[in-house]
Amino acid sequence: MDLFEYQARDLFEVGGVPVLPGRVASTPEQAVAAASQIGTPVVVVKAQVKTGGRGKAGGVKLARSPQEAGERAAEILGLDIRGHRVEQVMVAAGADIAEEYYFSLLLDRSTGGYLAMCSREGGVDIETLAVERPEALVRTPIDPLVGLDAAAAAQIVSAAGFDAADQQAIADVLVKLGRVYVDNDATLVEVNPLVKTGAGAIIALDGKITLDDNADFRHPEWRHYADSAGSDPLELRAKEKGLNYVKLDGTVGVIGNGAGLVMSTLDVVAAAGDALPGKPRPANFLDIGGGASASVMADGLEIILADPQVRVVLVNVFGGITACSEVAKGIRDALAMLGDKASKPIVVRLDGNAVEIGRHMLIEAALPLVELADTMDEAARRAAELAAD
Ligand code: GDP
Ligand code: MN
Repeated sequence: MDLFEYQARDLFEVGGVPVLPGRVASTPEQAVAAASQIGTPVVVVKAQVKTGGRGKAGGVKLARSPQEAGERAAEILGLDIRGHRVEQVMVAAGADIAEEYYFSLLLDRSTGGYLAMCSREGGVDIETLAVERPEALVRTPIDPLVGLDAAAAAQIVSAAGFDAADQQAIADVLVKLGRVYVDNDATLVEVNPLVKTGAGAIIALDGKITLDDNADFRHPEWRHYADSAGSDPLELRAKEKGLNYVKLDGTVGVIGNGAGLVMSTLDVVAAAGDALPGKPRPANFLDIGGGASASVMADGLEIILADPQVRVVLVNVFGGITACSEVAKGIRDALAMLGDKASKPIVVRLDGNAVEIGRHMLIEAALPLVELADTMDEAARRAAELAAD
């Protein structure tokens, strides 16, 4: 789960990372009040959306009075930044920036460790820097059993080429960011820019934190982060129903049982779609799990059919613990329940446990939207055809 900047700022503050005062506002009036409370001659009004590049998109603006902060907030609230609508802004104390740096610490799955990235050239689009001037971005593997300790921090700031006079202060901040990372079970902590002010202070001016969802069982406090604005509404609904659903951006809805089968189904759909006009792609990942009952199947189908981008649904089930008869029952019940709301074709491939009964049930029900396919390849091809332009 990604956090909003103001939530990252708060966690930084708790961890002793230097940040500037900031307050959240969801109306221009609240922004005026926030700016007066902060009380600095300059404040910055920042869109709170879970995407980068807010600055370039007009989502970060300076204001020289509380009134002006209100005006800037009025401009920023409601903006669409890369598909994210701005519902809140953070009003923060303005910084006198002398230099902008970059720092991030992330989970590196390829090494099973952490990776620290640091650059003297921050504030910019770091992906571009990494491509155009890779030597300016220092990458340092961090042993997760040791963490980002003083020795590792010293190595990073020296390799990044900071002025000797700044190295200690920056290293101290990096160690604190390393603790924020571990203490919060994060998979990413990114600060861009980390700045040096005119007075020489090192401050985290922007923050991004991604929490490891696998650790949510030991963080009851994360419930406060659940937000309906930032997450996909279908993903939220799926979560409420206990379904393993990830929204993708294609048009072929996919339901299967078992993560491996669903992932390979996504690949097969994408491959089949390559040859067709509009190149249909999977619209989602949805694993109904082993031993899924008819009602779980119905819940899954309902979620996928509620996705306006979906043109066709592909059900790919290999009956192991889940009997194909249960899957067939689920499809039948879901369609009966949805009635006219179900208007998209459903291609079904069943195999394994009770396949004959399942297929028979679907044929007998004579559902006009349902088509049976014998193999996974055939099913994927047919679904992709139905979704093609
Ligand atoms: P992002 O574009 O989403 O990464 O948003 P940032 O929070 O990083 O802000 C973008 C840029 O705005 C920063 O790199 C700074 O150059 C500038 N900026 C942010 N806060 C301040 C501030 O308090 N004072 C000044 N002068 N510039 C700021
Ligand atoms: Mn930034």
